Amino acid sequence: MPNVFENALRQLERANQVKKFPEDFLTLLHQPQREVRAHIPVRMDDGTLRVFEGYRVEYNNARGPYKGGIRFHPETDINEVKALAFWMTLKCAVANLPMGGGKGGITVDPKKLSKTELEKLARGWMRAFADILGPRKDVPAPDVNTTPEIMVWMVDEYAKITGDKSGAVITGKPLDKGGSEGRGPATGLGGFYVFDKLRAYYELPEKCAVVVHGFGNVGLNAAESFERAGHKIIGVADSRGAIRKIDGIKVAELIEHKNKTGSVVGFAGSESITHAENIISECDILIPAALENQITAQNASQIKAKFILELANGPITPEADDILFERGIPVVPDILANSGGVTVSTFEWEQNLKGEHWGEKEVLEKLKKIMETEAQNVFTKSQELKTDLRRAAFILALERIQTATEL
Ligand code: GLU
Repeated sequence: MPNVFENALRQLERANQVKKFPEDFLTLLHQPQREVRAHIPVRMDDGTLRVFEGYRVEYNNARGPYKGGIRFHPETDINEVKALAFWMTLKCAVANLPMGGGKGGITVDPKKLSKTELEKLARGWMRAFADILGPRKDVPAPDVNTTPEIMVWMVDEYAKITGDKSGAVITGKPLDKGGSEGRGPATGLGGFYVFDKLRAYYELPEKCAVVVHGFGNVGLNAAESFERAGHKIIGVADSRGAIRKIDGIKVAELIEHKNKTGSVVGFAGSESITHAENIISECDILIPAALENQITAQNASQIKAKFILELANGPITPEADDILFERGIPVVPDILANSGGVTVSTFEWEQNLKGEHWGEKEVLEKLKKIMETEAQNVFTKSQELKTDLRRAAFILALERIQTATEL
């Protein structure tokens, strides 16, 4: 598997080839400001003691407190968390949020833990990092396999340790625990707003056939948003397999099926396909919404989609980017396409700090405005610099981070 942090730095170099940034600034961006590892002991239900490895990487805070989620995954490691923290720095800058970038994680398969074990682990992560976190310092949130419930355990642990009950130390909390309206669907919906703003610039059918690769919070909400706007979802993958249904998948029914059976596989009227087949399916829009490195030099030449919206972080390697660019397949990069999540997270943080609760309409209007403005800014920059949307988004973000760094 390609090294994701190396890929992230290569993306930085490629953007720098289009617009040169000062050497010192680039030197600073080549590593995080701080990376912390902790060993988190958990007494398991069977009485044994297990120790899990946890991380928090604080990449850059030139524009504001570090911001970014916590990933629970058996394959996550410090290297992946570093890449994700780097992308968070750029993502917050693309969305023009007053936030820097960070990321956290634990190497664990949460599906193999009981609820009690999971709660102990989540609280243990917070105890391990509480001294470097804080509403004005570093504000985590959910990521792959971390839920609003896990955020509650963590915010509660933080309140016990510090006495700070504002809730602003962590976002993605449930509504009744200081969460924001709209945070659940924010990433998928924000991605849809970006697509809808950009679609006029590309030759796409009025009603598109959409394939979603990943069906966690992000993929599911993206599927719902596209369906609501009249597009047709024809393929979906989750961690256990993939399905195809050319005449259209009813997303609400698929969610019900997944809740019952644990997977999208076996959905009524669908054909079972492999992950590899799903990603190269014939479609208008492909939405990678799972993990990194899904589109590589191996499969990029077989992609049949006309347009790719990256809702996962880092799903396309730099080699694959080149192949897609040569083939004229536009890619809306992760740091723009999935920035809706951290945008509503930042609204949540602001509401907590002010002791306010904004209505859903207000939150979604604000989200839409930011997504549309920054999608336009990235597109305009790509035209000015005659480059792809990824390099354009990087350059827009780097300009903003550079200004903050110099100030
Ligand atoms: N984990 C999400 C991301 O990768 C959201 C981060 C946040 O809300 O802070 O953008």
